[in-house]
Amino acid sequence: MSALTSNSAPSADHLKKLIREVPDFPKPGINFYDITTLLKDKAGFSETIDALRDHYRSTPVDIVVGIEARGYFFAPAIALALNAGFVPVRKPKKLPHTVCRIEYELEYGTDTLEMHADAIQPGQNVVIIDDVLATGGTASATAKLVEMAKGKVVGLGFVIELNFLKGREKLAGRDVYSLIQY
Ligand code: AMP
Repeated sequence: MSALTSNSAPSADHLKKLIREVPDFPKPGINFYDITTLLKDKAGFSETIDALRDHYRSTPVDIVVGIEARGYFFAPAIALALNAGFVPVRKPKKLPHTVCRIEYELEYGTDTLEMHADAIQPGQNVVIIDDVLATGGTASATAKLVEMAKGKVVGLGFVIELNFLKGREKLAGRDVYSLIQY
């Protein structure tokens, strides 16, 4: 049984002052949570990486997967802190070698993610990291991609979780951790 618990507490609400909210970006009606203002704050960035590392401390982690593109700002630092490797999950046609691919539903249409087929060895413990958990579609597809490669998803970590979009419901039964909630 995993030593992890699926939770979001304690919330690091004080970090909200480092997150810039940009209304109507990239299109009208979307409130965009801009983490570049957190990244450039050395104390805030360091606290973010430390908190995510701490959540996974009691579980052996072999690989930290980062989701393109903003997951890449956090996942390699967390991988180093956990003494794990880093694997990028990418948009289609970016990876040069043989890939596993997953197509998933968006509100309108579909999207695709790819990962090198040999990136994860069967049975490896994998943590998936992204900046924002919104509807959960991207994270859920990434978890399935890792499982296609026979990796074991031991957790999904996010800097920000948008509670009102109920992304956790798509990740039911999985360990989901977020640092800041809106
Ligand atoms: P979803 O698949 O709906 O959970 O969307 C997650 C992805 O979209 C993440 O990779 C985020 O970077 C991005 N995203 C979705 N909504 C927002 C938002 N309001 N602000 C910033 N990024 C977002």
